[in-house]
Amino acid sequence: MRFLYSMRMGPHPHALALGDFAPRAGRRRCFLALTLLIFAVGCRSNVSKSSVAAPSSRPNVLLVTIDTLRADHVGSYGYDKASTPTIDALARRGVRFETAVAHVPLTGPSHASILTGQTPLGHGFRNNSGFILAPSVKTVAQDFRAAGYHTAGFVSGFPLDRRFGFDRGFETYDDRLPKGNDLRRTPYVERFADATTDAVLRWLATPPEGPQAAPWFLWVHYYDPHAPYEPSAADLAEQYRQSPYDGEIAFVDRQLGRLLQTLEGRGETGRTIVLVTADHGESLGEHGEGTHGIFLYDATLRIPWIMAGPQIAAGRLSRTIARSMDVLPTLLDYAGLPPRSDVDGRSLRRAADGEQMSDAPAYAESLYSELELGWAPLHAWRTAGFKFIKAPHPELYDLQNDPSEKTNRAGELGVRVSDLSSQLDLALRQPTPSAPAQSVDAETAERLRALGYVSGGHASRPAGGVLRDPKDGVRLLPKLNRGMSAARSEPELAIRELTAVLEDDPGLFMARRTRAVAYAAAGKHELAIADLRVLDKEGQLTPEDAVVLGDNLRSAGRLEEAALILQRAERENPSFPQPLISLAAVRIQERKYDEAAAACERVLKLVPDHIEALRRLGDLALLRGDVNGAAGRYARILEVDAGDVPAMTKLGVVRMRSGRPDEAMRLFREAIAREPANAEALLYLAGALAASGRSADALPYFERAVKADPASTMALNGLGLARLDVGDKTGAAVAFRQSLRLDPKQEDIARTLADVGQGAEGRSPSRR
Ligand SMILES: [Zn+2]
Repeated sequence: MRFLYSMRMGPHPHALALGDFAPRAGRRRCFLALTLLIFAVGCRSNVSKSSVAAPSSRPNVLLVTIDTLRADHVGSYGYDKASTPTIDALARRGVRFETAVAHVPLTGPSHASILTGQTPLGHGFRNNSGFILAPSVKTVAQDFRAAGYHTAGFVSGFPLDRRFGFDRGFETYDDRLPKGNDLRRTPYVERFADATTDAVLRWLATPPEGPQAAPWFLWVHYYDPHAPYEPSAADLAEQYRQSPYDGEIAFVDRQLGRLLQTLEGRGETGRTIVLVTADHGESLGEHGEGTHGIFLYDATLRIPWIMAGPQIAAGRLSRTIARSMDVLPTLLDYAGLPPRSDVDGRSLRRAADGEQMSDAPAYAESLYSELELGWAPLHAWRTAGFKFIKAPHPELYDLQNDPSEKTNRAGELGVRVSDLSSQLDLALRQPTPSAPAQSVDAETAERLRALGYVSGGHASRPAGGVLRDPKDGVRLLPKLNRGMSAARSEPELAIRELTAVLEDDPGLFMARRTRAVAYAAAGKHELAIADLRVLDKEGQLTPEDAVVLGDNLRSAGRLEEAALILQRAERENPSFPQPLISLAAVRIQERKYDEAAAACERVLKLVPDHIEALRRLGDLALLRGDVNGAAGRYARILEVDAGDVPAMTKLGVVRMRSGRPDEAMRLFREAIAREPANAEALLYLAGALAASGRSADALPYFERAVKADPASTMALNGLGLARLDVGDKTGAAVAFRQSLRLDPKQEDIARTLADVGQGAEGRSPSRR
């Protein structure tokens, strides 16, 4: 019956015949290869940094930034629902700053302040999109590198990708974000804390190149508390069902614990300065803001700052106000490196030693509402007691008596307003370094949007020139945010919300471009095309929009128009890969395979190891029957991202074709372990088992494959055949009938069903 497994391959050009799965005599060879592989792993050197590095006079420095972590959701900051034992223990053996503040409630600009010792006015990196760190601005990693430190950075969120300049000064910069296997999430935007810690521990266990005795500066960035709040550990998801944001924090704390325990195990705790802080907090609904980015209230500006290590007293609380830009001078101070005169921040070492330092004011800003929404930007000046926010309707808050900033006292405290506002204006007059505003490429914009940063790249301004106060526009935000986060997962909801926003503010082009994405996700390609054509007419079509337009035209079968718009996007943005990736998809649909491959090769010239280009080249190689070529591409993907399930599955198919069924089945099983409802992997594993004569083992996988994709005639046929093989004729007939209902033109299945129906007793169908 094996020939039957090669039937009905489905409509996809890359679909692979189950007939590929005929067993070969390669099992022994595979076993040998596997043994060699295990042997190679087992023999890997166990030499680690600690065992080769001679003690150095300078301490190691570990900087940990936890994204989106509100200070008042940490146990040591008085939050009784917290599960942050690692951070709390660190506070007990070190110093906790009661009030620490960020300068910007946005990941990129705030980290720029942490790493450069300057406010955005100094470093010039003002928004997550559209900016890169100016080459003239020096980072703390460069300081440590120049002092002979080994430097490494591990980041977990796309806003810190090296393309924005954050890798400067790091010998190792790991910004490899996995594709992820959650269809609701945009790929390549986030790495969970366990994977980041794994990567850090691998780095720690690898001997460094260069001077072995040198200390290290290590920056670890965790991203989990950023929305959406879905703790990746099952017990925390359960424990924090009511407040999943806290569950995310607990998960990061657990992973940070693993890292610190490893250092402890290596005997490095006593010579490592650890500083844990955040880039910003999270509004959690306060002031009408769900997440962060627009407002300058303490909900998003107040962050934790805890440090411990050699020369740092245990269990101390400092009331000196710590600012993000103080991180760099403080760390240089503890490492014994010369202070920098070109930074705005100051070392807080004296405060950590128990001295009450004078309170230094803090500048804060967010240009997000201006650059992304077309509303007024916000700037603030904060002292120990008061915060002034410059806005169309200015605000003043008495932070001592009103820490939640509920009562605007700008009207009654005019003198203080004018004092603080003149200090703010003085700061704003300082020349900002020319921060090269880069145009945002399509892929960048897509990934930023997936994280909730809009990144249209164009501000939409009202004709009159008067910008809306974000406080007045904020009522649109819940709808806008719901629309943005649901655009792919619940497109109908997103379309409703974004349509309502556009009725209120037709100038919010970002709502229109997101609605186009939602229309596309709902399969309403013509409506998506209409929205994008409106943007094009208004001169608001970003490169990303052009890609979405091209994809929709392709989906609507308008291949020539699709190619035209994508070629235009390629011409206008020659360094951006996404139009080429989409163009390749058009060419594949046109069956112009050579042109498709050429487009992908152009992508690899722009971005080596571009995953989607590798994937398409692998698929194209398979189409040509070039099994080795395909294997090389898929294997490369798995080197870059070991968790890429589609590549795992395809490589399994290739291995089957090359007569390596054991390896293939291992890949299929791993794919299923990562994505238990992956219809393709389930079907292939079932097919491979059946082809090896293990029909009984194959049965449950065929059943799961049918459940995962009830419209797959292939899965139903496989299920029927496997049932026949184990003697279940009734069950087989049910599956075949279902398959024929879906596609009545399957003559061989009809014949098999007829055979079964005639009750061919005593005849094994597999030996017909
Ligand atoms: Zn952030």
